[in-house]
Amino acid sequence: MRILVVEDEEKLAEILVRGLKAEGYQVETALTAADGLDLVEQSHYDLLLLDLQLPDYSGTALLRKLRQQRHDLPVLVLTARADLESKIENFDTGADDYLTKPFAFAELLMRVRALLRRGPAIKSSLLRVADLELDRLTHQVRRAGQKIELSPKEFSLLEYFMLNAGRALSRSMIIDRVWDQSFEGLTNIVDVYVAQLRRKIDESFEPKLIRTIRGLGYSIEGDAE
Ligand code: CA
Repeated sequence: MRILVVEDEEKLAEILVRGLKAEGYQVETALTAADGLDLVEQSHYDLLLLDLQLPDYSGTALLRKLRQQRHDLPVLVLTARADLESKIENFDTGADDYLTKPFAFAELLMRVRALLRRGPAIKSSLLRVADLELDRLTHQVRRAGQKIELSPKEFSLLEYFMLNAGRALSRSMIIDRVWDQSFEGLTNIVDVYVAQLRRKIDESFEPKLIRTIRGLGYSIEGDAE
């Protein structure tokens, strides 16, 4: 198991490296966010221990970049900032766990083991089509950065569309998957829900993402994908 420690306090980094190596992990360190990013891009790590206050740019910014580039390794954030807002911001960005400094090494080790057991869980959490984002973990939907409120059924419908982006989906496929049963003769319920969804995610945005496929059903497509 390979662990990357991005931490600019050299003394703390040393303690972490020594302790983790003693437990049999392979450990590498970076003292800046930029070096951390380079290392993750160049090689494979099973876990990232990430300090938030780094000399070049913040750990949060590094985390955001990694997630945007679809690096799905588990991330344990280490920071002295104990305030709730910063915790929420980092969880939203894709941190898997959080440890406030100073911490006991035994606690760090416990969390490291738990995260390594779990593996990359973030992988399929964020779905993207053009500037539309759907987070399967937090159930948040955003278009062009704007939060969009969906009902549970609208969310399931959009999730199914986005999991199958670019693919034509018939009304009966949609009924089977989103309503978990077949509504013989009731396929117009799909049209009703798609109309509602369009009002929320397409009406005030360009380009329109949901397409009607004549005689069949619908698909969602973004220009970029
Ligand atoms: Ca620091």
